[in-house]
Amino acid sequence: MKIGIFSAKGGVGKTTFAINFASSLLCFEKNPLLIDTDLNNSLSISLGLINYNLNLSRALNFEIPINNAIYLTPFGLRVLPTGDSNLNYKNINILNDLEGSFDFLVIDTEPGISEKNLEIAKICDEIFLLTLPETTSIYALMRIIKEFEKENIKITGIIVNRYTKKSISPSEIFDISGIPVLAVLPEDTKIKESLNKGIPYVFYNPYSSFTIEIKSFASNFLGIPYKKPSFLFLKKWLSFI
Ligand code: ADP
Ligand code: MG
Repeated sequence: MKIGIFSAKGGVGKTTFAINFASSLLCFEKNPLLIDTDLNNSLSISLGLINYNLNLSRALNFEIPINNAIYLTPFGLRVLPTGDSNLNYKNINILNDLEGSFDFLVIDTEPGISEKNLEIAKICDEIFLLTLPETTSIYALMRIIKEFEKENIKITGIIVNRYTKKSISPSEIFDISGIPVLAVLPEDTKIKESLNKGIPYVFYNPYSSFTIEIKSFASNFLGIPYKKPSFLFLKKWLSFI
């Protein structure tokens, strides 16, 4: 199954979500592959992949077999990095060749409604739109919904990221967009710390509200029961000593 993660606006948490959603799938004993299609290579860099010569860009030009561009990163996540040159996205359906080897292909994208993103979206089975719970991000969200609908691309749902008490509420976001809100992930200042260390947050801070929410979402998505950790306060307190 191919899962695409999109947003019209940058910096809303697509890469953070992709890494931690795939990590959550791993926690539920699934076999995901993270695919980076952003030329900034943020996803790959966040997982410690820097100098790699075999990449998606070369695979899309048929210079190398796509299987050769998959790297195993610490914590068990497998990643297909973008590379440095423009993607020959017209050949994007070669990703279908990987479906037999993985349960889920989690595709991180560049922000925006480019032709490249539309082509990627067209091959996806599920589409998650990321947004921040604030007016500028929701305006951009409405633009991408409109464009996807014009192209008959079915949106699975919205993931609201960096939620705080002062944010626009998920029910308002549903009222405005007409698209279900599947998960609400809280603001968490330690996330940056984990990215800089190359550790997925789900593993870096397993008892944080962010981790519990994203794992809860992954379990719902998979239809697997998930027992949220109890004695949270005690565990947080113990982590200090
Ligand atoms: P995108 O891929 O959409 O451009 P990123 O995942 O790179 O966005 O996130 C942008 C910035 O926001 C990063 O510095 C990241 O650490 C931060 N961030 C993402 N999600 C959260 C969150 N829930 N709480 C706090 N910071 C976050
Ligand atoms: Mg990104």
